Amino acid sequence: MNDRLCPCGTGRPLEACCGPYLDGAEAPDAPTLMRSRYTAFVRGHHAHLLRTLHPEHEDRRLPTRVLRERLEKQAKRARYHRLLVLDHDGPDAQGLHRVLFRVSMKLAGADASFAELSSFAVAEGGLRYLTGELVDLKGLEQLGVTTIAELEAHR
Ligand SMILES: [Zn+2]
Repeated sequence: MNDRLCPCGTGRPLEACCGPYLDGAEAPDAPTLMRSRYTAFVRGHHAHLLRTLHPEHEDRRLPTRVLRERLEKQAKRARYHRLLVLDHDGPDAQGLHRVLFRVSMKLAGADASFAELSSFAVAEGGLRYLTGELVDLKGLEQLGVTTIAELEAHR
C-alpha cells in the first residue's frame, strides 16, 4: 500500500484527508472526526487524540501525563489494519452525533478487532469524542448488521 495514502481508508492522500485535522483544524462532522482519530492512533499522533476528547469524557479526569503514557504503551503493542465506518446519525435532540464503525487490528500479535458505537458532541469550539460503546463484533457479522437502526433493532 502507498503510505502517502491516509490510513483511514478513503484512498485519498493524508494531506487531503485527515492531515489538516491532525494539525488542529476542526472536523466538519462526526465521521470525519472519527476517521481522523483512527489515523491519529495509527500514526501515534497523541496530541490530536487528547485534543478531541470531550471535557466530559471519563479520561479527562486523568492527568494528561497518564493519558499520554497509556497511549504510548498501546501504540507499541498495536498494529492497525483497517477502519470501516458503517453508519452515522445525529445530531439528536441532545446534540449527540453517533458513528458505528469497526477496526481490524492486532495487539501484541493477537487479533483485537472490535466494533464500536461512538458518540460525539460539540464542546470547546468543535466536535469532541464523548463516549464509546463496544458492540459485539461477531454478532454484527452473524446478523449482517451494518446500520445504527439495525443495531438498535437487535438490542
Ligand atoms: Zn483520512
